[in-house]
Amino acid sequence: MYKAKRRLGLVFFPAFDWAISPTHPEREERLLYTQDQVFEEGILDIEGIREYRPRLASTGDVERVHICVPDVQSRTTESHLIAAGGAIVAAEAVLKGEVDKAFAIIRPPGHHSFRIVHGARGFCNINMEAIMLEYIRRHYGPKRIAIVDTDCHHGDGSQDIYWHDKDTLYISLHQDGRTLFPGTGFLNEFGGPNAFGYTLNLPLPPDTGEEGFLYALEHFILPVLAEFKPDLVINSAGQDNHYTDPITNMRFSAQGYARLNDRLQPDIVVLEGGYSIEGALPYVNAGIILALAGLDYSRVREPDYTPEKVAQSPRVSEYIARLCDESYQAWQQRDTLREEYIRGKKEISRRRRIFYDTEGLMETQQETTRVCHDCGGVTWIDSRTDQGRHILAIFIPRDACPRCQEEGHALFESSQTIDYPDGVFLQDRLEDKLFKK
Ligand SMILES: [Zn+2]
Ligand SMILES: [Zn+2]
Ligand SMILES: [Zn+2]
Repeated sequence: MYKAKRRLGLVFFPAFDWAISPTHPEREERLLYTQDQVFEEGILDIEGIREYRPRLASTGDVERVHICVPDVQSRTTESHLIAAGGAIVAAEAVLKGEVDKAFAIIRPPGHHSFRIVHGARGFCNINMEAIMLEYIRRHYGPKRIAIVDTDCHHGDGSQDIYWHDKDTLYISLHQDGRTLFPGTGFLNEFGGPNAFGYTLNLPLPPDTGEEGFLYALEHFILPVLAEFKPDLVINSAGQDNHYTDPITNMRFSAQGYARLNDRLQPDIVVLEGGYSIEGALPYVNAGIILALAGLDYSRVREPDYTPEKVAQSPRVSEYIARLCDESYQAWQQRDTLREEYIRGKKEISRRRRIFYDTEGLMETQQETTRVCHDCGGVTWIDSRTDQGRHILAIFIPRDACPRCQEEGHALFESSQTIDYPDGVFLQDRLEDKLFKK
């Protein structure tokens, strides 16, 4: 019988009762075809590959990451909590040593969910990877974690959640935001004042082919990871770079995804997007499973595959080579760049507008972070929506120094609900508590 070289845990959760609408591309068939393919290929009969059942994530698991307005119950369904719980089960199987790697094949996706949640954006309500990571950090203690986001869309939510955290390196490869939702993810989005350089974006041009993705992996992602030396590598695996995907413009294949995972060797893979339900997902997911388990994936091929479909023009190749050079240099100079960025500043603020495409809602945030040499820095956000909601959210980081923790609590005490009618929130990651008034 076939035996996996590396033990692999799989979690399936197709979320039958959750869809934006019956014809929306984000629907349960996304995973059902994959599940069929996995059964047909006999993948679950391979020794060393085992299936785990998802469970419910708790409100506390969500609140460790998000401030949901007004509360978790109003912003999530049971499907969201099971998807998050599925990711947690996958991660726990790895951390307990029951398997070497795990793949959470779950939906709804999560990487467009920010710290503050007023509703759904880009099909996401809560961030599955972040909820999983903070759960395992709390219970198992791995510190340095890298998230490599290979979804075709910029994971703006994951970037937001880890913007001030230099123990979590967030690297995103995606189609250039000038040509695709959510319109962000450029080189100059490089992390907050206390984590400058720990957010890295590689905006790839439309029509990037197989060669371009693998080039970026070899010449940018792997060298950066070799220097960061994470305890764990997570892959936010969006399958929407596939050449058949109906909502994007890239030229990646199932073989390419399998090779990428074979080289990257992530510890945990969490499914994100991918909307070519029959043409891509079953093959891409099967390829990833085989690559993770250390099995031969050379025969995984889409029925309509031809080399022209993944070909890339010389102009695109040159562009990607320059992009990788520039990004890698910035990463290497991050400490000097940070000194220039924070020189003479006690606090750093940014103002931005966040669009909730699913709800047609616009949020305006004024975010301020204390420049701190000892921790991620206390951060507070004044958040308003164009539907009249107004809150203050204060965040004390996981590694908070006494001064930042004190300042966060003092700001919470002194802020009045008359100024913030929809609530003053304090997320104290050090104490693992959420306070609200
Ligand atoms: Zn991405
Ligand atoms: Zn996507
Ligand atoms: Zn501090």
